[in-house]
Amino acid sequence: MKRIFNPVLAILLSATVSGCATNPITGRSQAALVSDAQAAQQSGQAYSQLVSQARQQGAIDTDQQTIARVRGITDRLIPQAVQLRPETRNWQWEVHVIRSKEINAWCMAGGKMAVYTGLLDQIKPTDDELAQVMAHEISHALLSHQAEKMSRVQMQKAGLQIGVLAGAMAGYNLGGVAGLADTAATLALQLPNSREAESEADRIGMQIAARAGYNPKAAVTLWEKMLGAGGSGTPEWLSTHPSPETRLQAMRALAEQQMPVYEQAVRAR
Ligand SMILES: [Zn+2]
Repeated sequence: MKRIFNPVLAILLSATVSGCATNPITGRSQAALVSDAQAAQQSGQAYSQLVSQARQQGAIDTDQQTIARVRGITDRLIPQAVQLRPETRNWQWEVHVIRSKEINAWCMAGGKMAVYTGLLDQIKPTDDELAQVMAHEISHALLSHQAEKMSRVQMQKAGLQIGVLAGAMAGYNLGGVAGLADTAATLALQLPNSREAESEADRIGMQIAARAGYNPKAAVTLWEKMLGAGGSGTPEWLSTHPSPETRLQAMRALAEQQMPVYEQAVRAR
C-alpha cells in the first residue's frame, strides 16, 4: 500500500493528540484546534475591524449616558470574571454600544464586547438585568466557547464532515455592520452555541453577576422579557433552547442558589 500524506487525517490525528483542552472552570473537555490565546488574538483583530467599520457607518452609539451605564456594569463584572479565570486579567477588555435594531449582545474571546441598542430599547433592561446579559456573554468567552466554535470552523475548513455545523449560521447575525470579512472569529461568533454551552453560560453568568452585587432574580425577569420580545431577530438566548419553560425553571433554581452570594456582595459594597 502506498503511503500518502493525507492532510485531513493529519489534522484529525493532531486533534486527537492535542486538539482538546480542559476548561479550568467547568472541567469539560473541549475541541481546541484553536487555542484560547489564538481565539483572543483573532477576535481582537476582527473586533477592531468591526468597530472601525461600524464607526464609519455611524453605527457606534455615542450617547455618553448609555456608554457610562454599560461600562459601569461591565467594569463591575470584569474583576469577578478575572477572579474566576485569572489569566483573563491580560485580556484587553472592551465594550461598545452598537446602533442596530437587533436584540443582541456578545463577548468574543479576549473580552471584546458589544451590546446593541435594539436590546436596550426593546427589552428596556434594569441595571440588574443588563448585568445578567453581559455576565452571560462574558461567560461564553471565559468558558472558551468562542475558541470551541472557531475550532469547529477550522475543522469544517479542513473538510471534516463532523455534523456539528448543521444549521450553522442560524445563530448570531452581525447584520447592521455590513461588509465584515468572514474570518474564523466572525464566523464562529455567528455560530449558535450548543445547549450545553448555553447552560454553562447561564450558570457561570449568574455567579459572576451575583458576586458583582447584581440580583440573580433579574436573570429570570430578563429571560421573560426576552421571550415576550421574540420575533424581532433571533437573540441567541432563544436559539438553541427548544423548551423555554425548562430553561426558565433551571434559571429560577440557579437564582435561588446565588441569592446568598448576591446578598453578601451587597453587604460588602
Ligand atoms: Zn448564550
